[in-house]
Amino acid sequence: MSGVNSHLEHFSQQIDELKQQGNLRQFTTNIQQQRFITIDHHQMLNLASNDYLGLAADAQLREQFFDETPNAQRRMSSSSSRLLTGNFPEYEQLEARLSQAFHGRAALLFNSGYHMNIGILPALADSKTLILADKLIHASMIDGIRLSKAKYIRYRHNDLAHLTQLLQQYHDDAEFERMIVVTESIFSMDGDETDLAALVQIKKQFSKVMLYVDEAHAIGVRGVQGLGCAEQYAVIDDIDFLVGALGKAMASIGGYLICHSVIRDYLINRMRPLIFSTAQPPICMAWTDFIFQKVQALNSQRQHLQQMSQSLQQAVQKKGFDCPSTSHIVPVIIGESSKTVEKAKALQKAGFYIMPVRPPTVPQHRSRLRISLTTQILHADIDQLVTLL
Ligand SMILES: *Cc1c(COP(=O)(O)O)cnc(C)c1O
Repeated sequence: MSGVNSHLEHFSQQIDELKQQGNLRQFTTNIQQQRFITIDHHQMLNLASNDYLGLAADAQLREQFFDETPNAQRRMSSSSSRLLTGNFPEYEQLEARLSQAFHGRAALLFNSGYHMNIGILPALADSKTLILADKLIHASMIDGIRLSKAKYIRYRHNDLAHLTQLLQQYHDDAEFERMIVVTESIFSMDGDETDLAALVQIKKQFSKVMLYVDEAHAIGVRGVQGLGCAEQYAVIDDIDFLVGALGKAMASIGGYLICHSVIRDYLINRMRPLIFSTAQPPICMAWTDFIFQKVQALNSQRQHLQQMSQSLQQAVQKKGFDCPSTSHIVPVIIGESSKTVEKAKALQKAGFYIMPVRPPTVPQHRSRLRISLTTQILHADIDQLVTLL
């Protein structure tokens, strides 16, 4: 057999294995319209969206933005890294706006949440750093930790007592100059959340500790101004690296860091995905800025989402399912993968687009339906769904 064919044979076998395990992933073409999604001509209520405030689906908002943005400012490429010629005024305007909202702390933008998480940690953490990470953090942070020279330990999910115990154990170890605790505020799979006020209290007991908190699922959704759980728990000034993604409730693309200005200056010099990648197009920055101003005023929508989330959490528990959620991400934990997939298929057939989540994304025997609510979902939709669970 020729070289190329034997290589392809190897990868083809891997695909076959995934197929046999029921774990093959494929793209599906979909068309989205308001709260509905159409796949293979079958229209369903979209309960798998990250557009938590319905802003990405809002055609009027888009129209307003383009009306307000003259052609000269509709640049579709920055053509360069920000350190070369890519630093357009739109970047600085959005960073200034973020900085103003986040109590005057420094703000730095990234091309995506993934870039952010694989870039910041390796730049900051050297071999004298110990990273303590929640067991269920997002893959992007795990990749960031792996790219760094730091040693790392995982603590049990959302178990701050376990975290404290590990901090006590390693704090006096001369090998480490710094300890970075890495967590999410709202977790993407369980929909539960870290008690950030308690986390900050723990940090204050250990001088070597810095906090890294990812608010990907909380920005826009929590806090009176939508600044995330850090605003809700009044700890904006106490989190050393407050990060989030702009592609979910913020209806755009990118990532942001809120930090001390020294950290910002340092990252501009040391963070490889920031230095060696073409910056986002200025028009995306202008759009994020436009959305960020809108989002701050959407508190009644946030309250509505919170109310609907609570009634769904309660209904799921009442049906006898385990449901750890305290947020708009509501898992229905079924356990076995095959049962979960079957249930998801039945619900999709009935018009509810809900995705099954299986190992390795979640632990063994914790397969679940992952329901993600947006402000576009109606109470009547939820009532109907609950009867089918
Ligand atoms: C989605 C997500 C990211 C990645 O953000 P992108 O902008 O999509 O790259 C990072 N962290 C968490 C917790 C996420 O849920």
